[in-house]
Amino acid sequence: MSAGPAVVLMVRGVLLSYRVQHHHHSILGGDQPVRYPDQHSYTDPEHPEIKHIDFIFKPDFETKTIVGIAEYELETPATQTFCLDTNKLQIDYARADGIDIAWELGEPNPVLGERLKLGGMEGISRFELGFRTHPEAPALQWLTPEQTMGGEKPYLYSQCQPINARSIFPCQDSPSVRFTYTAELVVPYGMSGLMAAALVEVEEKNSELSFHYHMPQNIPAYLFALAAGKISHHDISSRVRIYAEPELLQAASWEFAYTEELIKEAVKLYGPYDWERYDLLVMPPSFPFGAMENPRLTFISPTTITGDRSHVLTVAHELAHSWTGNLVTCATWEDIWLNEGWTTYTEQRIMESIEGTEFASMVAAYNQRKMLENMERIGHDSPHTVLKPELKGGDPYGAAPLVSYRKGYAFLRKIEECVGREEFDRFTHKYIAEHRFTSIDTMQFLDFLIKELPTVKDQLDINEWVYGTGFPVDAPVIETKMLEDIDQIVAAYDRGVKPNSEQVEDWSTFQRMLFLQSLPIKMSVDDCKYIETLFDLKNSRDRYLQSEFYKRAIHSGYQEILPDVVSFLSTVGRGLLVMPVWRALASTEWSKTLVEDLYHQCKPKLHPMMNQALEKMFSRIAQ
Ligand SMILES: [Zn+2]
Repeated sequence: MSAGPAVVLMVRGVLLSYRVQHHHHSILGGDQPVRYPDQHSYTDPEHPEIKHIDFIFKPDFETKTIVGIAEYELETPATQTFCLDTNKLQIDYARADGIDIAWELGEPNPVLGERLKLGGMEGISRFELGFRTHPEAPALQWLTPEQTMGGEKPYLYSQCQPINARSIFPCQDSPSVRFTYTAELVVPYGMSGLMAAALVEVEEKNSELSFHYHMPQNIPAYLFALAAGKISHHDISSRVRIYAEPELLQAASWEFAYTEELIKEAVKLYGPYDWERYDLLVMPPSFPFGAMENPRLTFISPTTITGDRSHVLTVAHELAHSWTGNLVTCATWEDIWLNEGWTTYTEQRIMESIEGTEFASMVAAYNQRKMLENMERIGHDSPHTVLKPELKGGDPYGAAPLVSYRKGYAFLRKIEECVGREEFDRFTHKYIAEHRFTSIDTMQFLDFLIKELPTVKDQLDINEWVYGTGFPVDAPVIETKMLEDIDQIVAAYDRGVKPNSEQVEDWSTFQRMLFLQSLPIKMSVDDCKYIETLFDLKNSRDRYLQSEFYKRAIHSGYQEILPDVVSFLSTVGRGLLVMPVWRALASTEWSKTLVEDLYHQCKPKLHPMMNQALEKMFSRIAQ
């Protein structure tokens, strides 16, 4: 996914030091399937894995619940008990062959939810569960018609990563467990039911429409996704379709017209595209992430529709996840850098082919500085800066924002520097080919790295990169002409010389962002006004620029900005963009007394995950 709510939780306990060693499950080893202990799931590694599920889902927009039936097929028969993850689910029944199965739900855990324990499962490999979701299921957002662009029909969508699939259906909610499924999604007439799966047929039943889906490729539960609303579509190519609310379809289709080109570039780097289709669903504004790589159907934030195609890289990123993330998946959330670091690396390579190395390096520089800002805030020696953090069952997104992305990227780039691009590309192809449709952990990756590129361990300190804090001193240096130019203009600004409109006229969004990012967090109010006019930020549709600017304007005491900030916070749901603005409001003298009222206004429009992240942040700041 593209970075979302910036949640930082205290990790209980200290970071242990690790050494690269051969794990109990070498990639060369035996026939036994690899089983991972996952601190974020009640999945018992001794139990068989779910192989396939047949679902029926019926959302009820009145009660904000989905009534579900699921028929499970296990890879081998169970022995005695069988455990599944749930979160706020109501279980209606459990049956095998028409006979009731004993079940019980455990005590709720604030992170994990409730363990569903099925008893008397000896010899059973097929069973059925009836259940319904809670109106506050963390995976689901229910929008009223007024919260959509069209204002006509309600809207429902899911966000399962990292551990929210369990609030839609009972499952082994660990990224190490993969299954196939079919699903019937029943929605009121006039609405579309979309899933990250292959559409088989649409059936008309009285006043309802039944959308039948099939997911023939195995996926971990976090890649399960559904949406329902008034959604129309436009085909970009034989395998790319854009879905959006009708009001946004034309702009979205123009913005993402190059998607087929991106797929061709990605295939060059990674090998065949294994998911048949690559469709995009443009989400309602409250969507908390830049995008989510749901297989076959990426969910993408409307903040990427800026009318200038400047967010190609978000699509490049989600597309790259089709290989690194969806095809080769991190086994636990402590290994998330295997998804995000690799995907950032590939996003960067795709950008190099399409926009040139200058542009790609500038984007890399912007994002690296953003990560370093975060590290600066929490301390370079914080355990949250570790590439493979120890989460100990706490928040699955326990690392600092962007660390898994940018430090992961820098690590892979460093390896590339050590062995040369040609050798690294050979390694990448083999890495994907050998791990397709499996989930692996960091140790397995390191085993594979040392086996395939043995010289790397003599050229860099792998332990320091993977288990050390902060940003390694030997990280690749990003140099570009564009970056130098901007740094010069920033240096002039520091001496009191402001850039004029001619100097910035031809700047791309990223040049503007780099410039804003380099400005001091506190400026004079006059300077704030000057910058606002220079980049026409009052009329801009660019949420990225606005986020960078508002953060500074608030710290600088530019109080007249408040109405613009309020309108920004009530229309944008994306964590990466709104969290820094909320943080600035909550920690600045003039604005902190306003936060409670403002949040009260915005809360109903935001995704439950976002609200959770914000409330945590507010209470941390208040401490
Ligand atoms: Zn991602």
